[in-house]
Amino acid sequence: MIIDAHCDVLMKMYRDPLLDFNAAEPLLDVSYPLMKQGGVKIQFMAVYLPEEIKNPDVGHILEYVDILHRRVLCNPDIVLIQSRSDLQHVLTTGKRGVLLTLEGAEGLRGSLAQLRMLHRLGLRSVGPAWNFANWAVDGAMETRNGGFTLRGQQLIKESNQLGLLFDASHLSEKAFWEAADVPGLHLFASHSNAKSACDHPRNLTDGQIRCLIERKGMIGITFVPWFVKKTGSVFITDLFRHIDHICSLGGEDFIGFGSDFDGIDNYIRGLENAGMYVNLANELYKHYTPVQAQKFLWQNGYAFLERSLPVS
Ligand SMILES: [Zn+2]
Repeated sequence: MIIDAHCDVLMKMYRDPLLDFNAAEPLLDVSYPLMKQGGVKIQFMAVYLPEEIKNPDVGHILEYVDILHRRVLCNPDIVLIQSRSDLQHVLTTGKRGVLLTLEGAEGLRGSLAQLRMLHRLGLRSVGPAWNFANWAVDGAMETRNGGFTLRGQQLIKESNQLGLLFDASHLSEKAFWEAADVPGLHLFASHSNAKSACDHPRNLTDGQIRCLIERKGMIGITFVPWFVKKTGSVFITDLFRHIDHICSLGGEDFIGFGSDFDGIDNYIRGLENAGMYVNLANELYKHYTPVQAQKFLWQNGYAFLERSLPVS
């Protein structure tokens, strides 16, 4: 059983209205058949408005929510997870769960009313930044390393009040520490690796990893090849340097996975789609104890969601 904290399948489905999530669809890295094949029980699905959308607004975000409802949740065996009771329902039945997340607050254009309405539509996680600066905050690829704007600070406050998960994965380092200063915020990293194991601006410093561990925030190890290893082919076993490093900092109970499937066109060998989680699981069982492998594959993610989601 697997929990995956980030994918961009909704973006691919937005770009191509003919893609069928519930069929064997060669153009998708994540689909219902692949989730079944790979043992993916819960999949976070991001609303990420790609750069080709010139003036993103809430209308675009709503189109993604519509795609989720019409083309994913039309399958009676997929449940939108909005609460702990949904989580338990998924765990105790043969159903699979989807968590709706926002990657990049660009489309909100500073509107907290729109954030509140998206929460009512089932949004449960906000990642305020993608790679660059927006009205709220700087992303990790902005070399000036700016923090939250005044409006961005209100976004944090509102997210905290709504009980949304707050995704640090694309934040600049300064913004990360500003968010970390907010008590009670459900801070986590949906798809980032360890900077000590691979120096990339999208990866987490040891200080950030220690902070997430202290706050009991999940860290989703990601499969973006250049976040795993600087050069050469990347193999599943290369992920273990990141896992081992986070464990060495005390993070064994907070490591999970966030593939970034459908957001990447380069892959780790043997880990080209959600169905291939089987290969990752096999390698984990070879290198770690069964207890550790289970923690990384789903238990840590599950425990994080149980701590963070509203009761009902
Ligand atoms: Zn991303």
